Amino acid sequence: MSKKVLVLGETRDGVLRNVSFEAIAAAKKVSAGGEVVGVLLGDSVQSLGAEMIQYGADRVVTVEHEKLKQYTSDGYSQGFMAVCEQENPEAIVFGHTALGKDLSPKIASKLAAGLISDVTEIEGEDDDALFIRPIYSGKAFEKVKHKEGLLFITVRPNNIAALEKDESRSGDVTSVDVDVKDLRTIISEVVRKATEGVDMSEAKVVVAGGRGVRSADGFKPLQELADLLGGAIGASRGACDADYCDYSLQIGQTGKVITPDLYIGAGISGAIQHMAGMSNSKVIVAINKDPEAEIFKVADYGIVGDLFEVIPMMIEEVKKLKV
Ligand code: FAD
Repeated sequence: MSKKVLVLGETRDGVLRNVSFEAIAAAKKVSAGGEVVGVLLGDSVQSLGAEMIQYGADRVVTVEHEKLKQYTSDGYSQGFMAVCEQENPEAIVFGHTALGKDLSPKIASKLAAGLISDVTEIEGEDDDALFIRPIYSGKAFEKVKHKEGLLFITVRPNNIAALEKDESRSGDVTSVDVDVKDLRTIISEVVRKATEGVDMSEAKVVVAGGRGVRSADGFKPLQELADLLGGAIGASRGACDADYCDYSLQIGQTGKVITPDLYIGAGISGAIQHMAGMSNSKVIVAINKDPEAEIFKVADYGIVGDLFEVIPMMIEEVKKLKV
């Protein structure tokens, strides 16, 4: 049965995040030929509606309010619930991001919907669709079927391919007025601690360093390689604990879960807690001077050697490819 699906468009610094386009592609499958409606919340988001449509949404509904300039779960839930009341959707798709993980349970409970979170693949379409999601820190996958009522899923970034951008697509961008009030949190300032540039959870390439990098300066060659590959830098908790980098870079069970096309881990032993965050990467390259290091068990390509010799060689080779 075809469905009307709402998709939350997530923005950062006034730009739509890639996961929003992946969520639209997931919504297309879920809708089975029904209508995909993008939802944008913020203080000035109207102009982003066209891009959601170019990536596959049929139309877009915005809620603009100065109190939605920064994300708060109270503000966004008031805005999103107002759109739900107007649209009466049969399914909802969010990105499985920090925002999506915070907001989706709140909305799901308000709408008494079951929530299938962290979906990495959708098999089939229609009412028979199976939603595949990792369990036990990525060691196994389960297939979940939606039975009845409002369907609500969150999709893990970098797993469901976005549709090709089609600049000839057009559709309505309308707005809903909401009196956003009674916010229990007010964001007075945002202090960015992570490095500027590519966001690790959406990056196609992540170059991660561990205790083996030995110092904050030891991260410099890794950063250079990441920049050359258009990727992001990441780290093990060993490196964060040693104060070589900020905790916002930590990958793993108590850090970020990433699934880039290419993960390069240097000077990382491969503790189970680290692997919980990266073992589903599409291609894993490990550099370690210990041939017995656990990380080699999940690596597609293992390089036994000193990272301070191997990474500069990789940088040189990548530079040659770019000439
Ligand atoms: P180490 O285990 O010390 O490994 C360093 C590696 O570098 C070694 O294998 C060594 O051979 C290699 N090396 C050294 N010098 C070089 C060189 N010059 N060239 C090449 N290789 C070199 N960890 C996480 O990463 N993420 C988490 O989310 C996380 N959550 C945790 C949660 C809990 C509850 C607990 C208890 C632990 C958690 N940990 C987590 C910590 C985890 O158990 C490990 O301690 C940590 O991952 C080790 O980091 P590491 O691999 O950088 O360091």
